Formats: sequence, structure tokens, C-alpha cells
Amino acid sequence: MERFDYLVLGGGSGGIASARRAASYGARVALVERGRLGGTCVNVGCVPKKVMWNAANLAHALADAPDYGFALAPRVVDWGKLRAGRDAYVARLNGVYARLLSQAGVTVIEGTARFSGPRQVEVAGRRLEAEQVLIAVGGQPRRPALPGAALGLDSDGFFELAELPRRVAVVGAGYIALELVGVLSALGAEVSLLYRHEEFLRGFDVCLRQSLARQLPAQGVRLVSGAEVSAVEREGDGQSLRVVLREREAYGGFSHVLWAIGREPLTHALGLEAAGVARDAEGYVSVDELFATTAPGTYAVGDVTGQEQLTPAAIANGRRLADRLFGGQPASTFNHDCVPTVVFTHPPIGTVGLTEQAARERHGDANVKIYTTQFTNMYHALTMRKTETVMKLVCAGHEERVVGLHVIGLGADEMLQGFAVAVELGATKRDFDRTLAIHPTAAEELVTLR
Ligand SMILES: Cc1cc2nc3c(=O)[nH]c(=O)nc-3n(C[C@H](O)[C@H](O)[C@H](O)COP(=O)(O)OP(=O)(O)OC[C@H]3O[C@@H](n4cnc5c(N)ncnc54)[C@H](O)[C@@H]3O)c2cc1C
Repeated sequence: MERFDYLVLGGGSGGIASARRAASYGARVALVERGRLGGTCVNVGCVPKKVMWNAANLAHALADAPDYGFALAPRVVDWGKLRAGRDAYVARLNGVYARLLSQAGVTVIEGTARFSGPRQVEVAGRRLEAEQVLIAVGGQPRRPALPGAALGLDSDGFFELAELPRRVAVVGAGYIALELVGVLSALGAEVSLLYRHEEFLRGFDVCLRQSLARQLPAQGVRLVSGAEVSAVEREGDGQSLRVVLREREAYGGFSHVLWAIGREPLTHALGLEAAGVARDAEGYVSVDELFATTAPGTYAVGDVTGQEQLTPAAIANGRRLADRLFGGQPASTFNHDCVPTVVFTHPPIGTVGLTEQAARERHGDANVKIYTTQFTNMYHALTMRKTETVMKLVCAGHEERVVGLHVIGLGADEMLQGFAVAVELGATKRDFDRTLAIHPTAAEELVTLR
């Protein structure tokens, strides 16, 4: 039996951050990873997605360039070159993480971990034991149990595509579905988005959902709401795919079907019963506000807990846990009300705090005041192609504290972080008003709302 102070299962965002922080306090740390270091974010999530989003932005800029006086012939992306550059960057990051862990003195063990008992784990024939164990194994794309589901790709498969797909049905309504729709469409694919309900991006403020629903058709994306997929079939030509919908006509002629219907935790084969770690009905590891599971000395952070499924949340909570367990720091909890996030759609969405609906439910209609604006970014003054910007401030109480801030529009991705600081600090509408505007920008509208 090999013994450590801290055993971290999963070398993704949460696991690496927690392992390095614990090692910085002198703990003897081992980290087990079954695949590539960096986890979902680095390999099949945020990082390669952002590269594709950047490429999509370039496609838009090239389309706009003639309107600004650049005589450019229409161009199509060299998908192979784009993919090679992206994959090389990800491989460099894998190396960076390996070096960072080694420099921190963390022992990295390759293989799939499985609990054999409380705080005991087996990996590739090795038996490991630790005072404290962190479960940070993340999740994987969910696939539906439907006839023909295997004919479709998931988001992991998207990053394996050898060429630009011609005609794609993206099935899903969450942020990953919407981001992939934007990238594929900007790069030249014909895209249909099929989603079950009347709206997508549920949980986001209604102004963001409605604006994106207005803008996607203008980009050539076909929106099919109320679409409950019952099967995927090959069409007569043997090449194209048809998506069969319950109680509706089928949609056919697709070269690819992309499932983006959510993610599920990787807990089924982890032997959690042997460790005494409870899961909820959906398989997520149940944790309290200090990330403790039902088993003593065993914790979980990140996507595997089903809480905010975002890299910064996994990192922050992983570090916080290590600070407490090995750094002698007092317990601190996570502010679920102030989670800034960006959806890398076209145009992007930036959001922090409560939606208007959530604020009304929490504070009551009479205590909520909304400030909103809608305009076309000045960038489009010369372009044929247009995008829309919508902004909303959600204020609560007589002092009008800004409890929610929502933006869709060019630059929203980089705009949000600074505003999130203000919201975290409890800024009021008055604080926003007395902040001098930066002109001419889109962001200035947020401090001049009436
Ligand atoms: C397409 C896509 C885009 C995304 N974009 C963003 C974004 O823009 N911004 C953002 O903040 N978040 C984004 N996310 C979410 C983000 O990637 C996750 O929230 C984050 O990676 C979670 O970190 P984690 O440490 O919990 O899990 P992961 O990063 O998934 O790491 C878990 C690791 O555990 C390993 N593992 C699993 N089981 C075992 C086992 N039994 N033994 C050993 N190792 C195991 C896995 O191989 C993996 O490396 C995106 C996700 C996807 C899929």
C-alpha cells in the first residue's frame, strides 16, 4: 500500500488546482489521471472551443472587411490547418500541466482510479491510501438512449472532426449546443438547432434568450423548437442522416447529428459504495457547503458535484479545500449568487448574478427595478452584417443594489469580468451612474442606463 497525505482523483481543472495548492503547503500529494492532463476544459472544453470561437470571429471579420474598404475575396477555412494548430496548442498545455505538477512535487499516476475501501484506491494494480481524498473526476457528454443515437457525435467528437461538416443538426438547448451552433455556422456549415422546449438557454435571463433567438435565424441557423427526437436514421442514399421527431415530421439531409443534451458525472465505475460516498439520483457526488461527501476524509469538487459546471468554480473550490485541509485557513463558502459566466455564442453573452425572474422571486416585484437597453454596436455602422446588443441591470431594494447584470453583444465576453467585481462588492445603480463612461464603447451603456 502506497500512502499519501492527499490523493486527488482526476487531473482536470479542480483536481490539478487542489493538488498543487496542497503540495505548496508541504503535503505529500498524488494525483490520478486516466487520460490527458487538464481534463475537459483543456482537452475537449473551454480551450479548444475558444480556439474555434476565435476562428468563427475571424470568419465574421473577413465577411465584414469589404464594408470597411478591404478588397478581400470570400475565403473558406482550412479546417485541417485550424485543427492542427488547435491540437498542437492543447498538447502544449498538457505538457505545461505535467511540468507544473512535477515542479510542485505532486506524484502523477496514470490510470483509472477505483475505490477499494474508505480512502483507499486501486489504480493499474497499485494500491493507494491517503488521509484525505478528493474526487474530481468530472463528467462526460450525455447520449440519449434512442435508436440510431450512435450515428451522432457529441462535443468530444466535435473536436475530432477531420473536416468542416456540411449540414449539421445540433440537438440540445444548453450553452454548449448554442456555442457549437455559432462556430459551425460562422465557419460555413448549414446548421439546424433542434430543442425540446419553446426556448433554449433556460436558466439565463429572458432578454439574452430572446435576443439570441432573434439573431440566429439572421445568421442562417434554422431553429426547430418543440422537437423531441425519437430516433436518428440513415436516409436512402446511405450517406445522409434523418432526425425523427415524436409526433412531427422528420428533418433530413444532415451530414452530421451533434448531441449536446447535457453532461453526466463519471461516477458509475468509481466504486463509491466501497468508500461510503453517496450519490444523488442523477449520479452526482453529494457534498455539503465545505465539499465534504458522506464519507469521512473524502471530498468532491467540480463537475462531479453537479454544482456550477465551470472551470473557475472547480479551481476556486479545489484551492479553497486545500487551503482549509493543509493551509490552516478557515472554512470559506462559495457565493453561488455571484458567478460570472460567458457563453461564447455569436455574439457572446456575459452574465452575472440573478436573472430578472430570480430577483423578482427572491425580492418581490415591488423591490426589483430593471434598466435595459437595446442597440446596434457602432462596429456595424459600416457593415451589411449586423448583430444586436441587449443589456439589462437587475437592481434590488431601495438602494438599488445591482444583483444581476446581463449582456449579449460584441465584446460582452471581455466586458463582464470587471462588472462582476462591482456586483461582488455590492455596487448600487448610483455607483454605476457616478462611474465615468468610456467613449465610444458598448460597455459605457451599462453606466449610463436610465
Ligand atoms: C464543450 C465544452 C465547453 C466548455 N466551455 C467552458 C467555458 O468556456 N468556460 C468554463 O468555465 N467551463 C467550460 N466548460 C466546463 C469545464 O470544462 C468544466 O466545468 C471543468 O472542466 C470541470 O473541471 P473538473 O475538474 O470538475 O472536471 P474535468 O475537467 O472533467 O476533469 C476530470 C478529470 O478526471 C479524469 N477521470 C475521470 N474518471 C477518472 C478515474 N476513474 N480515474 C482517474 N481519472 C479520472 C478525467 O479524464 C478528467 O481528466 C466546458 C465544457 C465543455 C464540454
